[in-house]
Amino acid sequence: MDSKLYIYNTLTRKKELFKPINPPFVGLYACGPTVYGDAHLGHARQAVTFDVLFRFLSFLGYKVRYIRNITDVGHLESDADEGEDKIQKKARIEKLEPMEVVQYYMNRYHENMRQLNVLPPSIEPRATGHIIEQQQLIKKIIDAGYAYIVNGSVYFDVMKYDADHHYGKLSGRKIDDLLSNTRALEGQSEKKNPLDFALWKKADPAHIMHWPSEWSEGYPGWHVECSAMSTKYLGVEFDIHGGGMDLLFPHHECEIAQSVAGYGKDSVRYWMHNNMITINGQKMGRSLGNFITLDQLFAGNHEILEQSYDPMVVRLFILQAHYRSTLDFSNESLQASEKGLKRFIQAAEKLGKIQASGHSTLDPSTLGKKCLDAMNDDLNTPVLLAHLFEATKWINAISAGQETITTNDLDGLKKIFSSYLSAVLGISLTGQNKTGDNLAEELIRSILNLRTEAKNKQDFALADRIRNELNKLGITIKDGKDGVEWEI
Ligand code: ZN
Repeated sequence: MDSKLYIYNTLTRKKELFKPINPPFVGLYACGPTVYGDAHLGHARQAVTFDVLFRFLSFLGYKVRYIRNITDVGHLESDADEGEDKIQKKARIEKLEPMEVVQYYMNRYHENMRQLNVLPPSIEPRATGHIIEQQQLIKKIIDAGYAYIVNGSVYFDVMKYDADHHYGKLSGRKIDDLLSNTRALEGQSEKKNPLDFALWKKADPAHIMHWPSEWSEGYPGWHVECSAMSTKYLGVEFDIHGGGMDLLFPHHECEIAQSVAGYGKDSVRYWMHNNMITINGQKMGRSLGNFITLDQLFAGNHEILEQSYDPMVVRLFILQAHYRSTLDFSNESLQASEKGLKRFIQAAEKLGKIQASGHSTLDPSTLGKKCLDAMNDDLNTPVLLAHLFEATKWINAISAGQETITTNDLDGLKKIFSSYLSAVLGISLTGQNKTGDNLAEELIRSILNLRTEAKNKQDFALADRIRNELNKLGITIKDGKDGVEWEI
């Protein structure tokens, strides 16, 4: 397959022509959420970024196996292997079984992804379902001499590894700088060096998530799950590993070290990272009071929000910035995306009604090439969207009779709209992504509009029938001076 797709490889710090290891198959792995709370804008950006990559690779004809994991054990509060497991902490506070917390937030995450029109991955492995695979990898790392066992816990020996290989090659961080920025180890620490990270931790008596192992009754470190699960499903070497820039260090740096130590080589050909979201220019954080969950965003239910935003508006907003740029959230920018989405919806409606004529005053074939070039240039979705907005201008002009188009070119224009806007960018114009509540509300509205139409045509029998049918569903309607009101 002849691909002209260039992607920016975080490891080499340049755009590279994408060449899969075993075409037409592509192995894609992206780190999924740690499911202990509601998904927020940061989750949405990462999921949408790699969803678009998944969609575009499939559009190019590749057979993509996309793995997005669920972290349900081992992610501690601090990167220094200290603090409580995030899921266990939530379970303790809520007085729930940890797997109840996991199931609850995983279900909510899936609902948010459906609303955002994010396709489900090919496989969604969970860390707790792959304890044996993680133990097998840890064993390999110990056998290779890059990990040591202390009191039933296993730690990766970063200094030993760095002497033979290069720790920090992904993030560009240097061991000396890292050491001077790290607190000196206190006497009770089991680690030889503060940069060492846990592969397996012995569970203390208060820890309720633990499994037997040859080292201790315990649980895996966070980084080892992604190395174990990606290679289980994609092979020891695979094409693309993605994630948010916040995962670059230490999470992905540690993944590289684990692969090289355990398998003797790098597992990943291309590393891709999406940039972060800021809110009115400020970093998003629970302590800053600007932490907005997707549910709050979709419902307009946060003091920062001037209104609610449809999930498709949020998706379009995310794609209007290149994935490697920071994306600043503000009401104004989301409202601009809302207008943009409306333009697409109106253009799609007009496109369905346009009549072709004898000759074209416009040439959609060059437009298709421009769209492809934009995506081939490291997924340049803002440029692609600019071309698609240009297409809406054409559609408006044809619809207004200012331009004409042949049947062939009209088909071409329709194809560009359906392939790039819907298939590649995943922008749904049909409302299929709406939440049940929104959809019900809009359905009732449109039925009431039909009833008003019937009344205007003096068809009072039909108007009454519509009212009675709605009554049967528990919906009462009241005709007022300002139109029809209804309640369930
Ligand atoms: Zn990961």
